[in-house]
Amino acid sequence: MVPRKEIVSKFFSNGKFLTSDAIEYLEKEPSLIELALSIEKTVIKAEDIKKLKKPEERQVLIIKKEDEIPAKEYEEEIKVENLCDFSMKERKARDFNSYFVSRLQSIQEMLMKRINPISISNLRENGEEQSIVGMVYEKRVSPAGNIILVLEDFSGFVKCIVNKESEVFRDAQDVLEDEVIGVRGVFRNNFLFVNEIIHPDFPAKEKVHLDLPVDAVFISDLHVGSIDFLDDVFIKFIKWLKTSEEARRIKYIFICGDVVDGVGIYPGQEKDLRIKDIYKQYEKARDLLLEIPEHIKLIIAPGNHDIVGIPEPQPPLKNTALTELPNAILVSNPCYIRLHNRLKILMYHGYSYDGIIQGIPSLRKSGYQNPSLPMLEVLKRRHLSPRMDDTMIIPNSQDHLVIKEIPDIFHSGHLHTTSVMNYKHVTLINSGTFQAQTEYQKMQGHIPHPGIITLVNLQTREVRLINFLK
Ligand code: FE
Ligand code: ZN
Repeated sequence: MVPRKEIVSKFFSNGKFLTSDAIEYLEKEPSLIELALSIEKTVIKAEDIKKLKKPEERQVLIIKKEDEIPAKEYEEEIKVENLCDFSMKERKARDFNSYFVSRLQSIQEMLMKRINPISISNLRENGEEQSIVGMVYEKRVSPAGNIILVLEDFSGFVKCIVNKESEVFRDAQDVLEDEVIGVRGVFRNNFLFVNEIIHPDFPAKEKVHLDLPVDAVFISDLHVGSIDFLDDVFIKFIKWLKTSEEARRIKYIFICGDVVDGVGIYPGQEKDLRIKDIYKQYEKARDLLLEIPEHIKLIIAPGNHDIVGIPEPQPPLKNTALTELPNAILVSNPCYIRLHNRLKILMYHGYSYDGIIQGIPSLRKSGYQNPSLPMLEVLKRRHLSPRMDDTMIIPNSQDHLVIKEIPDIFHSGHLHTTSVMNYKHVTLINSGTFQAQTEYQKMQGHIPHPGIITLVNLQTREVRLINFLK
C-alpha cells in the first residue's frame, strides 16, 4: 500500500486535492494514482477515479494538457497598503516632534500588553520593583564598566543602571539608542537599577495559509546596470519560470528593492556601471521583466540604489520604465501587501540592517552571513530602523517604520545573501541578489551569495531555495 501521506502530497504538488473517499480508494488501487493525476479537476472525488477504470474513458483522460498552468486558473487578489505620505511638503521642527510622539506612543501601547508600566515621574524610592516604558535617549558605559541607559517618556527622563555582573548585561549591550523598551527595576538614589529589559515582540501567531494551490517567489537586489549584474543567471531564472514544471503554480513575484544599480550612490560608482543613465537602467530592467509570463504578478518596491532617494519611507517607483509592465504593481518601501484577503506580507528593503549589525554586538559576527538575524531583531523591536542614525527617516506625522502589524511573511533584501528563518509562524526571508561581488564588497570583506531565489508554497508555507548560479 502506498502511504496516505505520499498520495496526498503527490496530488498536492500538482495543485490538486483529494476528498477522503478518494484517498481511501487510491490506497487500495495504487495503480490508478498516475492516471488520477491527469483528471482535470482541482478537487478529485472517488467517483472521478472510478470512472477511470472504464476503458473508453481512459483513452481521453490519459492525454494531459501540455499547457496546463494552475496559477492561470486563479485570479490574483492583491491589496496594497503603501506606508508613506505622498505629499512632499517642507518638514519643520514640529514634524520631528509629532514623529517622535507617534513612535513612542505606538510602541508603548504594544509594551503595555506585556508589562504594567508607570510614568517615569511616578517612580518611587520604595524598595519595590517597578516598570517603565521609554525611548532610549542615551546609552553609555560608566567608568566602572556598567551600562547606563537614559530613558525618556512623556513625563520625563530617568537614568537606568545595568550592572556589568548582572544577567541583563548582555541584553543591555544589545539595546539600541532611540528604541522603545520596557525596563523593570528598583528605584534608588535617583537611579533605576535594572533587573529586566523587555522588547515589545509579539504573542504567538497562528500559521496562515491560502486555500489555493499558488506559489510566490521572493527576490531582490537585481542591480541592473551594474557591471556585476548577472544577466545570464537572471535569464536562466526567467526561462525556468516559463518552462519548468515546478514554476507552474507561481502567481506572484516579490522584488524587494535595488532593481537597478542607480547613479551617484557612492563615490566612483561610474566605473562600476555598464549602463550609466539611470532611466536606461530601468528600461533594461523593464525589458528583462517583460519576459516573465503575464499571469504572474510582480510586486516591486524600491531600495537605496533606486531613483527615489535614500530617505525612508520611499515612494513607489513611478516615472520609470517599470510603469510599462502590464503585470507589475509598484509599491512603497516599506509596504504591506495582503493576498487573497488572508496572507500578509511586509516588504522592507533593509537599509537599516548595516547599522543594526554594527550596533548589536551579538550580531557583529554572524549578521552578514545570516541576514535573518537583523530582521528578527527589528521584528522583536517592532521598528524597521530602531536607531535613528541607521537610515535617513522622513519625519511624517506618523512613524511608518513602526511594525504595527505582524505579517505572515517578512521580506527584505539589501544584504545580498539569501536566508530564511521561522519565528512564531512568521517567515523571515532575506532574498539575496543577482549581482556578483562588487569591488566595494571585496574591500569590505563581504561575500554575497547571488542567484538564489526563494520559492514559497502559499498553501503549505513550505519554503524552497533554488540556485540558478550553478
Ligand atoms: Fe542591494
Ligand atoms: Zn540595498
